[in-house]
Amino acid sequence: MTQETDVTSERPFSDRSYAAFLGEEQLMGSRCQNCKQLFIPPRGLCPNCHTGNLSWEQASGRGLLVAMTRMAMVSPDLAAEGYGGSRPYCSGVIQLDEGPRVVARLEGSRDAEPDQDMIGQAMQVGFEHLDRETPRLVFRPV
Ligand SMILES: [Zn+2]
Repeated sequence: MTQETDVTSERPFSDRSYAAFLGEEQLMGSRCQNCKQLFIPPRGLCPNCHTGNLSWEQASGRGLLVAMTRMAMVSPDLAAEGYGGSRPYCSGVIQLDEGPRVVARLEGSRDAEPDQDMIGQAMQVGFEHLDRETPRLVFRPV
């Protein structure tokens, strides 16, 4: 183990650390060293075997789209970004190659019609830098 040179090992398994990694364009989770399950966002305690023996692991950022939804009615925050009736906000569930499922904004889908044919599409993570501290997680077709 090269703990001294591995900065990731110094970060606690928290939402704050997860967000900090996103800021560095890294999708990071914690993997249980006992049952080997990966958690994104990271957990400090494994819910399966209740061990605290977890370590940081960077996900590939690749996965399959398993569900999606399209919102024409959006929050004021999203409306301020230009989303709404004529530009629906698409969000989806991506099953990562490593196993965990993450929810993120989808890019690259047609705006007008629901794209149920995108289900099963291979997706790749991206990081949308908005005018705020933490980038937004997005996925786009590979
Ligand atoms: Zn475990």
